[in-house]
Amino acid sequence: MADAVGQVLRAAHFAAGKHSAQRRKGEAAEPYVNHVLEVAHLVAEAGLDPTTVTAALLHDTVEDTATTREELVAEFGEAVAAMVMELTDDKSLPKAERKRLQVERAPHKSAGAQAIKAADKISNLRSILNSPPADWDEQRKREYFAFAKAVVDGLDRAPAQLLAEFAATFQRL
Ligand code: ZN
Repeated sequence: MADAVGQVLRAAHFAAGKHSAQRRKGEAAEPYVNHVLEVAHLVAEAGLDPTTVTAALLHDTVEDTATTREELVAEFGEAVAAMVMELTDDKSLPKAERKRLQVERAPHKSAGAQAIKAADKISNLRSILNSPPADWDEQRKREYFAFAKAVVDGLDRAPAQLLAEFAATFQRL
């Protein structure tokens, strides 16, 4: 237990450092680490294990910061690194293609990655509701909500608690 808490906090510290220069796109421009803490909290509340909570904290490091898979393996082990890579989009692809792949690949992800993906989309919808980007009109919000729903609809192994929270959040637009 002490080891698990230590690893989770080490990952929170690691993520805070990696995302330190980054802010959320919304008007409030929250520090990015708030997002990964929210995602990890949702995953922990849904009863997921410390490995998955650790991966939740790190889920955007490879995609959005100068972090490599090898670094995650060395710091947190293979299981955590593999789960983060399952959640890392290939940024060399056009945005529309990346979105299409998120929908297509959702059902093929591991149970842990599915839980993190569901929590990620809950966090993103909450951000859009509470602090939308200044240049987003209703149409743009609706498009993002529809995309998020298409992804979450494919998460057949995500915890019911997260799917229910997603559905409740989706209703709020
Ligand atoms: Zn995220």
